[in-house]
Amino acid sequence: MELYSDKINKLIEELSALPGIGAKSAARLAFYLINEPEDHVKRLTDTLLDAKQSIHYCKECYTLTDQELCPICASEKRDHSVIMVVETTRDLAAYERTGKFEGVYHVLHGAISPMLGIGPADIKLKELMRRLEGDVNEVIIATNSSLEGETTAMYISKLIKPTGIKCSRIASGVPVGGDLENVDEVTLLRALEGRTEL
Ligand code: ZN
Repeated sequence: MELYSDKINKLIEELSALPGIGAKSAARLAFYLINEPEDHVKRLTDTLLDAKQSIHYCKECYTLTDQELCPICASEKRDHSVIMVVETTRDLAAYERTGKFEGVYHVLHGAISPMLGIGPADIKLKELMRRLEGDVNEVIIATNSSLEGETTAMYISKLIKPTGIKCSRIASGVPVGGDLENVDEVTLLRALEGRTEL
């Protein structure tokens, strides 16, 4: 006999497909939502749908934003000649939290991984190279220190070499394989300040 009715099972199933949500948490969330007032649930679903429909890539740096240009790219206070290359919008947020980086970013949306069949054309690399045709003095590669992140860093540095633009890599000290967003701000700042030219 099924423990719950079909519609409850369906809700639990959808919720447990979310990252980091196990079967128990999914059930807890499902019953929480069912017991909430209808207008609250409606607000949540509207917010989800609205976010999904209105969030897209910044046309400059490819971070996720609901504007044509994200606030960083649109800011005149930022140094647009220094570009920090990160894997994800969450990594961008991690560096932004330090409050010390004054340049702009480029979000690759992934890293090169021959094992997973992710090649240079599958991440926003062409888009980065296009930006380098403009007025750029330095590219700081801040991909993760995982195998994929290092492979990507090597690949990018080889692409940049012929352009003569200064290219540096953040210092290791960021835990290997660790997501940048889980690294504390002091460690990130140290990694940034201790960057080495490639
Ligand atoms: Zn942007």
